[in-house]
Amino acid sequence: MKIGILGYGNLGKGVECAINNTSDMELVGVFTRRDAKSLKIQTPGAKVYSMDDMLEMKDKIDVMIICGGSATDLPKMTPETARHFNIIDSFDSHAKIPEHFANVDKAAKEGDNIALISVGWDPGMFSLNRLYANAILANGSDYTFWGKGVSQGHSDAIRRVDGVKDARQYTIPIDSALKSVRSGENPVLTVREKHIRECFVVAEEGADLKRIENEIKTMPGYFSDYDTKVNFITQEQLIEDHGGIPHGGFVIRSGKTGWNDENNQIIEYSLKLDSNPEFNACILVAYARAAFRMRSRGITGCKTVFDVAPVDLSAMTSEELRANML
Ligand code: NDP
Repeated sequence: MKIGILGYGNLGKGVECAINNTSDMELVGVFTRRDAKSLKIQTPGAKVYSMDDMLEMKDKIDVMIICGGSATDLPKMTPETARHFNIIDSFDSHAKIPEHFANVDKAAKEGDNIALISVGWDPGMFSLNRLYANAILANGSDYTFWGKGVSQGHSDAIRRVDGVKDARQYTIPIDSALKSVRSGENPVLTVREKHIRECFVVAEEGADLKRIENEIKTMPGYFSDYDTKVNFITQEQLIEDHGGIPHGGFVIRSGKTGWNDENNQIIEYSLKLDSNPEFNACILVAYARAAFRMRSRGITGCKTVFDVAPVDLSAMTSEELRANML
C-alpha cells in the first residue's frame, strides 16, 4: 500500500514512524501547507510536497492519511481531499461527527473513493468498546474516564487568559469514582465527580496570580463544572516536567444479568499512553490498511470504525488470524 500523509504536526510525525513499523506499507510523501523545503522527514525515499501539488500524485497514492487539526482544518480539508483520494482522518469533535460524516460522504461518493473518519482512540477504539459492551450487556450503564493526560484544548484555553505565558492541563480521573464503577455499584456521577483538572501555569512577570487562578477556575465550558487545581511554575519547569503528551483512559460498562439481576458483569478497556499522537497514529495506520482493502472490494463513501471488519485491520491473513488469534 502506498501512503501519503497530509499535515505534519504531532500526529503526522507519529504516522510516519508507525508506517516504518509495517511490512506492507510504503510512505510516498508528506504534504504540507507550509514551505515544503522547510520540513525534514525521516523516511528514505519519501519526499515533502506542497499541498498545492497533491493532485499530481493522485495515481501514486492508495490512501491519504489526513493529520490536520479537528477544530478548523478537517471540516474543510477532509471533504476536499476525499474528492480525489481514499482518505482517513482523526476528526474528534464528537458533537459535529454527523455533520462531518454527511459532508465527507458526499465528496467521497462524487470521487468514487472511500473515506474513514473519526479514527483514533476517542473517537475510535473507545467508541468500538462502547458499542461492543452495549450490544453484549443490554442491562447496564456506560462510563468513560479520560486521563491522566494532557488536554490540548484546555491548555489552549488557559493560554488565552490575560497574563498567562504558557500552560499545560491534565485531566485526572477520580479514584473513588473509578472504584465505585468497578465494584458494580452503577453510580450516577456528575462531571465533577468523575474528573479533576490540574493546571500548570507560567505567568508573565508581575501578573496578578490570584486573578489568573480565579479566571481559570470559573471559566465556563472548561473548568467551572470541575474541581480545578492551579499550580504556578517557571517556563523551565514546564519544559522539564510537562513536555510530554501522555494520555489514556477507561471505558467501562457495568451490567447485570440473571432473572433477578443478581450477577454483576463488568467490561473494562483501558489505555495508558506515553504519547497520545504516536498511539493515535498506530490506529490510523491499521485503519488505512482496512480502507485500502475495503476500496479494493468496491466499497466507497464515508465510513467509521463501526463499519470496518476486524480482519481488515491486520497484516496477517485470515488463516493466520484463525490459527493464532482466535
Ligand atoms: P498539531 O497542532 O501538531 O498539527 C496540526 C496541523 O498543524 C499539522 O497537520 C500541520 O499542518 C499544522 N502546523 C502548522 N504549523 C505547524 C508547526 N509549526 N508544527 C507542527 N504542525 C504545524 O496537532 P496534532 O497533530 O497533535 O493533532 C491533530 C489532530 O488529531 C487533533 O486536532 C485532534 O483532533 C486529532 N486527534 C484525535 C484523537 C482521537 O482519539 N480521535 C487523538 C489525538 C489527536 P501543515 O503541515 O499542513 O502545516
